[in-house]
Amino acid sequence: MLRGLAAGAFTALGSPAVRAQAAPRVVVIGGGFAGASAARALKREDPRLAVTLVEPNPRYTACPLSNAVIAGLRDMKRQHFGYAAIAAEGIVHVPQAATRVEPERREVVLADGVRLTFDRLIVAPGIDLRFDALPGYGKATADLMPHAWKAGEQTRLLRRQLEAMEDGGLVVISAPANPFRCPPGPYERASLIANYLQRHKPRSKILILDRKDAFSKQRLFEAGWAALYPGRIEWVGESLGGGVTEVDAATRTLRTEFGEHRAAVANVIPPQRAGAIAAIAGVADATGWCPIDPVTFESRLVPDIHVIGDAAIGGAMPKSAFTANAQAKACASAVIALLRGETPGDPKLINTCYSLLAPDYGISIAGVYTPRDGLLAEVEGAGGTSPLDAPAAVRAEEAAYGEAWFETVTAEAFG
Ligand code: FAD
Repeated sequence: MLRGLAAGAFTALGSPAVRAQAAPRVVVIGGGFAGASAARALKREDPRLAVTLVEPNPRYTACPLSNAVIAGLRDMKRQHFGYAAIAAEGIVHVPQAATRVEPERREVVLADGVRLTFDRLIVAPGIDLRFDALPGYGKATADLMPHAWKAGEQTRLLRRQLEAMEDGGLVVISAPANPFRCPPGPYERASLIANYLQRHKPRSKILILDRKDAFSKQRLFEAGWAALYPGRIEWVGESLGGGVTEVDAATRTLRTEFGEHRAAVANVIPPQRAGAIAAIAGVADATGWCPIDPVTFESRLVPDIHVIGDAAIGGAMPKSAFTANAQAKACASAVIALLRGETPGDPKLINTCYSLLAPDYGISIAGVYTPRDGLLAEVEGAGGTSPLDAPAAVRAEEAAYGEAWFETVTAEAFG
């Protein structure tokens, strides 16, 4: 009789009816703007869910406004955020890196060998820098020619190099082709470095060597440079010889098809791809990025795995923290609907990118995106940029909005 009961209990536990009552498990890989926002949105929308956030770093260092740190206008401490508030909401933060994903077993393998089972997995590892893409540039040479495209020690290094540079030295910024993290970022950086040079190294100049012929908010940046930093910033697009083909880190030389430039400080921002775990999980394609369904953010390559933030690609949305946060919330809703057997609705996603040209001079670009023809397409006429001829008061207001946005988005993700 006991054997029969035991067998019955086992069957009952394994039956679909009982399993349906167990809390669905969602694992999120990556605790950046995308992953942290997604974990929180999931738990807030459905407190029954078992949500696990896999992130090896005890502290997150935010990139937005890190260009102001490089220019000596902001304390690095203000870029740091912890995971205590997330854990207090009942989300399990596992301080490990994910090293493998086994989709057929629905398991994530961690660096310490522990396995986490999931019903749905959200992959949000951000970017990796492609150290194999530019001859002469690699992990080791990034200490001589910092990228500062992942905030932290690289940000401090670029700052120190600028401080150590003699007045009159040339700062060269090498910007990559699209797509890459934060399209206006290199030009905001040039602006704020110019601000630093104007105050401390007035004989120094900045040369931007670019792998493309146009860039985000270009007319606004160029008008701002003319007004704030006349003659200090030179931009060279791809077709005029801006594409860097090779670097020599020892001599801080950047070569293009048209010649070579010797820098006192070289900020090389190499091409990028989705964080390595995306390729390991099988959700990255030959481009290095992760194609997604624009409604659910489910991978086009592996079912039940969703990709959000910088790692994802699938339309016109730029790679920004604003986008990462917006995609996280839409993806969380879609995942909850799918776990309930419902059909997720089409999301409307907003992105706004603020850039600082000086402490009291901000500009912005905004866009609205919605699924169309399998991609996230921009809604015509719904976005726009700051006016080209705005008075100083508007620029100052936009600088303040940028700061306020940072406070809001970091509070939503981490606070
Ligand atoms: P990330 O923020 O990079 O987070 C990814 C996380 O995943 C990291 O914490 C990482 O440790 C973790 N991870 C990676 N691999 C694993 C693994 N195997 N296991 C577990 N965890 C893993 N955006 C704006 O909206 N506004 C701005 O003003 C702005 N300014 C910027 C300025 C600069 C200089 C730069 C470089 C970027 C800027 N951005 C800005 C862009 C913004 O920082 C990124 O778009 C945003 O961080 C993307 O979020 P994410 O969560 O996808 O990636």
